[in-house]
Amino acid sequence: MTEKQICDNFRIVQEQIAATVSDAGRSAGSVKLCAVSKFHPVEEVSAALKTGQILFGENRVQEAYAKFTEIHQAGKKFELHIIGSLQSNKVKKAVEIASCIQSVDREDLLVEIEKQCAKLEKSIDIFFEIHTGEASKAGYADKTALFTSLEHIEKGMYAHIKPVGLMTMAPFTDDEKAVRNSFQSVRMLKDEINERFPDVPVTELSMGMSGDYKIAIQEGSTMVRIGTALFGERC
Ligand SMILES: *Cc1c(COP(=O)(O)O)cnc(C)c1O
Repeated sequence: MTEKQICDNFRIVQEQIAATVSDAGRSAGSVKLCAVSKFHPVEEVSAALKTGQILFGENRVQEAYAKFTEIHQAGKKFELHIIGSLQSNKVKKAVEIASCIQSVDREDLLVEIEKQCAKLEKSIDIFFEIHTGEASKAGYADKTALFTSLEHIEKGMYAHIKPVGLMTMAPFTDDEKAVRNSFQSVRMLKDEINERFPDVPVTELSMGMSGDYKIAIQEGSTMVRIGTALFGERC
C-alpha cells in the first residue's frame, strides 16, 4: 500500500472508532488502537508512524524483532505489543523489543518472562489471553489455571511482570451473537478477577479486530487490534 492509502485508512478507522465509542455512550479516547503490522514491511510501519501512530502489534517475534530494531535504529519512537502465541524460547527476544506481551496463556510463560526481564532489569506489561473462540486454540481455557497464575502474581512471584488486562480473539463467524458472547464473557471475567484479586488490578480489555471491532467497543473493549483495515490484505 502507498503511504497515502495507509494514511487514509488510519483516518477512516480512527473516525469509526470514535463514532462507535460515542454511539455506545462511552467517553472519547477510551479505546486505544493497536495497529497490527504483521506480514507488512517496515516501510508501511514508517508510513503509519507518520500519521502519529505509536502502538503496534506483531504476531511473530522474529519478524517483529527485525522490523522494529530497524525502526529503533532510525531513532523513531514506538510501542510494540506481542499478540501472537509465544514459544518459551522466543521470550528473550520478545521482552527485549516489546513493552507488552498480550498473549500470555500459561504459567510457564510467566516463569520465562520473569526470568528474562529480571536479567534485563526491565518490567513488562502483560495481558492474559482468554480462549473464547473455536478458531484459535490459544488462551487460558479454564479459570482454575488463570486464577492460579493470578494468585502467584498476587504473592509477588513475578516482580518484573505487571498484568494490565485480558485479551481475546472472538470466533471467526458471521454469527454476531457468538462474537458478542465471547466479548461479554471476557468482560465479566475481568470483573470477577477484580473482585477476587483486588491487589492485581486488571483494567484493559484487548478485544476486536478488523471484522468485529465495533461489536467489541460496544461490549467494553479498551483496545482494538486492527491489521487488515489499516494495511490491507496480508502478503
Ligand atoms: C492478525 C491479528 C489481528 C488483526 O487482525 P485483522 O483481522 O487483520 O484486523 C488481531 N489480533 C491478533 C491476535 C492477530 O493475530
